[in-house]
Amino acid sequence: MKNDRSKKVILAEPRGFCAGVRRAIAIVEQALDVYGPPVYVRKEIVHNHYVVRQLERRGARFVDSEEDVPEGAVCVFSAHGVSPAVHAGAEQRRLDVIDATCPLVAKVHQEAKRFARDGRTILLIGHADHEEIEGTYGEAPDRTVVVESEDDAERLDLPRDTPLAYLTQTTLSVDDTAGIVDRLRGRFDDLAGPTSDDICYASQNRQNAIKDISARSQLVLVVGSRNSSNSIRMVEVARDAGVAAHLVPEVDELDEGWLEGVDTVGVGAGASAPEILIDRLLDRLAELGYADVELETTATENVVFSVPAGLMRGERRRPAPGTPQPADTSPTDRRRSAGTRPAADDSVRKA
Ligand code: SF4
Repeated sequence: MKNDRSKKVILAEPRGFCAGVRRAIAIVEQALDVYGPPVYVRKEIVHNHYVVRQLERRGARFVDSEEDVPEGAVCVFSAHGVSPAVHAGAEQRRLDVIDATCPLVAKVHQEAKRFARDGRTILLIGHADHEEIEGTYGEAPDRTVVVESEDDAERLDLPRDTPLAYLTQTTLSVDDTAGIVDRLRGRFDDLAGPTSDDICYASQNRQNAIKDISARSQLVLVVGSRNSSNSIRMVEVARDAGVAAHLVPEVDELDEGWLEGVDTVGVGAGASAPEILIDRLLDRLAELGYADVELETTATENVVFSVPAGLMRGERRRPAPGTPQPADTSPTDRRRSAGTRPAADDSVRKA
């Protein structure tokens, strides 16, 4: 189709991969290079189906639980983090664990441990069924309550002077979270918080970028998978700004009906969406007459998280399976050891 000069795309910058996602993907790629396939990955390494498929083609095997990984095998933990019970389960199976937890998620785990040590009840703001919340919750399950909404904050049945602390999932809506924290501050006198905002720089920057382009667009499209929390928040941010908005996991899910009567389309992408999926969407929009692309930059990102140095040097933390080990002398011992696996994660307790 010929370019229609009245039609254009406003492309958000920053968009797509954040530092934690780049690091997690690089860890799986490096593990495949060093150890060869299969490399097991507990859960999706990042929440993007395209990324997962590409890594599967190279020999990564994605599993739901560390218990699905053969004893002694290499296992990568995803960027969303895991609970101590998962680490213990992996230890029992003698897995060669490479932890790809984003350092910004790891920081929230440290805060949870600190608040629990201080005797505070932790109000964990986030989505109870998200892997990141399951992992953080597992740091102090007896002292943690998940708060998903302002209504949950109102429903908390705790005395006003309870020593409390709040923490948040890293990928939440900045505005929604502020509303929940305000409610908590109004209800409780002793509420500690994290030293710095838990919502990560990448989520904040992408939400700001979407707010900015929403003010100038009639339709906003966000490239990201349906299980990507930060991508879903971006769609909500655009809708809250009063503009029609949709998630586009892959270009074949673009509904051309959305474009009827639309001259300006805003395009952004969640922190786990690869640039190739954004390019494919832009190519399709160009075919539909939206060939002019204006870049709207609201922030510059230069955060880099490095891959563990030992992995870069090709070091295994455990001997390869089959290597004789003094503490692992008989199959009977190994079976006995496997039988004492710790209990699975406590289920997440909601407000
Ligand atoms: Fe880390 Fe934020 Fe990226 Fe999640 S979205 S991997 S917390 S930088």
